[in-house]
Amino acid sequence: MPARIVAVANQKGGVAKTTTTINLGASLALANQRILLVDLDPQANLTSGLGLKDQRAPAGTAYEALTSDEHDARDFVLATSVDHLSLIPADRDLTGAEIELVSLLARERRLARRLEALRDEYDFIFIDSPPSLGLLTLNALVAADSVLIPLNCEYFALEGIAELTATIERVRHALNPGLGLEGVLLTMYDDRTNLGQQVSANIREYFGDVVYRTVIPRNVRLGEAPSHGVPVILYDARSKGAEAYVALAHEFLARRAARASAAAP
Ligand code: ATP
Ligand code: MG
Repeated sequence: MPARIVAVANQKGGVAKTTTTINLGASLALANQRILLVDLDPQANLTSGLGLKDQRAPAGTAYEALTSDEHDARDFVLATSVDHLSLIPADRDLTGAEIELVSLLARERRLARRLEALRDEYDFIFIDSPPSLGLLTLNALVAADSVLIPLNCEYFALEGIAELTATIERVRHALNPGLGLEGVLLTMYDDRTNLGQQVSANIREYFGDVVYRTVIPRNVRLGEAPSHGVPVILYDARSKGAEAYVALAHEFLARRAARASAAAP
């Protein structure tokens, strides 16, 4: 089966898009899924969190993948320290892509075109997007089969969600009719506070069943792992953060299997 492409998106900053991309990706890779991660954020936190800061694939980075027409898509892929986990890296150059893309033909389909050529090599492709709804995030939404939305469990969690869902709706309408909602993930949850419980209840009420049962707790190990350049499961496999992302990977696969069998004739 060709890879399913999932955009991890929320234009709000610091909601754990990158943390989720790395750790869900790594947990799935350890479950023998072939995973490609795409760093589509000029901050390049995904790239540095995997210990690959400033490393370029043979043909360059996400910047060249988007702006040039040369090279095979495979030449933008780097191996990581985790088996079955690969990366299209980013660096600061990607800041310029947002502007340079404007003048290119089919500017919102540049990533889709690259990833189409890679679908047969992976089981899942996850795209980490920047905290904005600009042309980079648009490329992620056009390339994707579905969107995974991380929400941090704080008072303003749902702020901006109307804008994000309107953007998804517009993309579905004009550019990518098949775009689905993969799931909504509650992150940075603190069960010691009433606020956390209240916010998560609100989110479940707003989104219903698409919210994953697995909740990612606040856990310092998740914040520390990127400075060691590894997913949390390689840094402290017994931490609550690592356990939560392993549980999420299982729920993610179980849901996919359930949806696939529901869709089968
Ligand atoms: P941006 O919008 O800037 O790209 P983001 O949505 O990708 O941010 P992350 O970078 O993944 O968010 O997370 C923001 C910060 O919170 C990081 O320092 C990260 O290590 C930390 N963090 C993420 N999840 C957790 C968690 N569950 N517990 C504690 N710290 C966390
Ligand atoms: Mg990020």
